[in-house]
Amino acid sequence: MLEEEFGITVIFKKTQTLGDILLKKGRSIEKQHRKNIIYSIPCKDCPKKYVGQTTGTLRKRCKEHENWCKKKYKSKILKSTKKNDGIAFHHHQTGHTINFANTKILGEEENYWRRLITEGLEIKKLPITKRANMQSGYEIDPCWDNMLKYREPEHQGRYMLLFSSYMMLNNR
Ligand SMILES: [Zn+2]
Repeated sequence: MLEEEFGITVIFKKTQTLGDILLKKGRSIEKQHRKNIIYSIPCKDCPKKYVGQTTGTLRKRCKEHENWCKKKYKSKILKSTKKNDGIAFHHHQTGHTINFANTKILGEEENYWRRLITEGLEIKKLPITKRANMQSGYEIDPCWDNMLKYREPEHQGRYMLLFSSYMMLNNR
């Protein structure tokens, strides 16, 4: 009827089934409990993102970030010279809301150095204007920048090769 009268086509969205919801919930629970990960947390009010790594679970690390975002820590975070919680610093400095619900897992590495280097690469991948990190993370010489181009699933083989060469040459 709408279509006839106003030339509007109504598209009905497929309704979410219980199975869809449970599957989605299951995945997010699984994500919350993964360990040794490199993750990113976006800001809701600007294009900045924070990249971090943790040996613990994503859930525990996010709780820590959220905790430092509390009002009572504002002056402590803003005055801190360590600047190791970029996400809380960004929140307190700008008043922006952090989009914790959209935290993404960027990688999983059990080995400490591999995790640190992956974090450094992920920070490097972000243009400076989009970084909420106060520190650039593990410094990787620009001659390895090529490696960044291959950090996508379809180039996994090439990425692993470059990454292994990097680890070997740097004695990690
Ligand atoms: Zn922001």
